[in-house]
Amino acid sequence: MDLDFDRSHLWHPYTSMQEPLPVWPVSRAEGSTIVLEDGRRLVDGMSSWWAAIHGYNHPVLNRAVTEQLGRMSHVMFGGLTHEPAIELGRQLVELLPAPLDRVFFCDSGSVSVEVSVKMALQYWQAAGRPEKRRLLTVRSGYHGDTFMSMSVCDPVTGMHHLFSGVLAEQLFAEAPSCGFGEPWREEAIKDMRRQLEAHAGEVAAVIIEPVVQGAGGMRFYSPAYLQRLGALCAEHQVLLIFDEIATGFGRTGRMFAMEHAGVVPDIVCVGKALTGGYMTLAATIATGRVADTISRGMPGLFMHGPTFMANPLACAVAVASLGLLQGGEWRARVAGIEKQLGSGLAPCAVMAGVRDVRVLGAIGVVELERPIEMGRIQKMFVDRGVWVRPFGRLVYLMPPFISSPGELDLLTSAVCEVVEQEGRAG
Ligand SMILES: *Cc1c(COP(=O)(O)O)cnc(C)c1O
Repeated sequence: MDLDFDRSHLWHPYTSMQEPLPVWPVSRAEGSTIVLEDGRRLVDGMSSWWAAIHGYNHPVLNRAVTEQLGRMSHVMFGGLTHEPAIELGRQLVELLPAPLDRVFFCDSGSVSVEVSVKMALQYWQAAGRPEKRRLLTVRSGYHGDTFMSMSVCDPVTGMHHLFSGVLAEQLFAEAPSCGFGEPWREEAIKDMRRQLEAHAGEVAAVIIEPVVQGAGGMRFYSPAYLQRLGALCAEHQVLLIFDEIATGFGRTGRMFAMEHAGVVPDIVCVGKALTGGYMTLAATIATGRVADTISRGMPGLFMHGPTFMANPLACAVAVASLGLLQGGEWRARVAGIEKQLGSGLAPCAVMAGVRDVRVLGAIGVVELERPIEMGRIQKMFVDRGVWVRPFGRLVYLMPPFISSPGELDLLTSAVCEVVEQEGRAG
C-alpha cells in the first residue's frame, strides 16, 4: 500500500495533515481479527468504534449484502419504498419500547442527531411554542461532529471556542455525578433540575446518552438519573432525546441502555452497530405524538430527506444483523465479556497513574491520571498483537460480542502491561 500517498493526501479522523499520527495498513479482517498487510494479526478491542458487534466478514451479513446487491444497491426513498426498509423499520419498532414507533432513516449518527433536534424544533413550532428552540444537555457528552451535534458535545473536549459565533449556544448541566451501581444521591441531578426550572420556557429538548457517556469521557452513571430526568422533562414540558448511537444493540448488557432505567424518551437516535458495522446507517425514532404534532403544524411536513435515505444495502445488512441478535445468545456473551473484562482489568486498579477502572457490559475502561501519547501507545498495542486505540486519559476496550475468552485475555493482558509500563515510566 502506498502509505506515502496516505500520509500526504488523506485526512484521518482528528489528525493533522502535517504531522499525521501513524496508521497501519489493513488487508482484511475476519471474526475478531484484523489482518495487517505484512501478515500480522491483531485481536480487535474496538469493534471499529462500537459498530462491529458480530465481528468482521460474517457469512450471514456478507450473504445479506450480496443478495441485496443482486436486486438493487440503491433507489431513492422519495416516492419509492422497498422490503429492506420496511423489514428494518418493523424490527426496530418491535425492539424499541412503545410508543417509539415512527422511524426516520438517515446516513450517520451525527445526522440522526441533527434529525432528532429538527424534530424537536418542528414539534414546538407546530405546538404553538416556537420560542422553545434551545437544547439542554450535560457536560462530558458526545453527539457527533456536525454543527448541531457539536453544539451539544462537551464544550471543552468538543473545543467549542474554535467555532464560537457559529455554533448554537446550548445549555449545559453538570454531568451526572452518581456512578452506575452507586446508591442514588439526589444532588446528582440538582444542576439539571435547576436549569430545567430556570429555562423550560426556551428549551425544546434535553438530549443525553443514556447510562454511558461515550467519546466524551467513557463515564457510566446511575439509571436513577434518567428516571428523575424523565419525570422532570414531563413536568416542565421539555422533550427528551436519548442518543443510543453508541449504547444501542446490546453493548451495555441490555438491548438499549434506556432499559436499565425503564425510561422511554420522546425521540431516540440509533446508529453505529445498527448494521453490525458493515455500512453507514442510522435512524431517528419518535413517538406518534411527536410525529403527529409535526405533521399537523406548518408546513405539515418533516423537513428532512437525505439522498441515500434508507439505502437498501445498508437496510438489508441491518436486518441481518438484528436477525443475529434475535436468538438472544448475545446476552450471555456480553455478560461473559463483562465478567472477563472485570477480572482481566482489575490489576490495573492498583497501578501507578491509574485513576479508575470500570466495566459495564462489553465496555471496559482504564482511566489514567494523565493523557497518553496516542501514536506511541498504539504501537505498543500493535506490537502485542491487539488493536486498542486509547484517547486522552482513557484506555478502553469494547470488543466484538463474538470475542473468545482467549482473545479477551490477550486484550486485557495487553492493557495491563501497557498501563503498568506507562505507570513505571511516570
Ligand atoms: C459516534 C456517535 C455519534 C456520531 O455518529 P457518527 O456516525 O460518527 O456521525 C453520535 N452520538 C454518539 C453517542 C456516538 O457515540
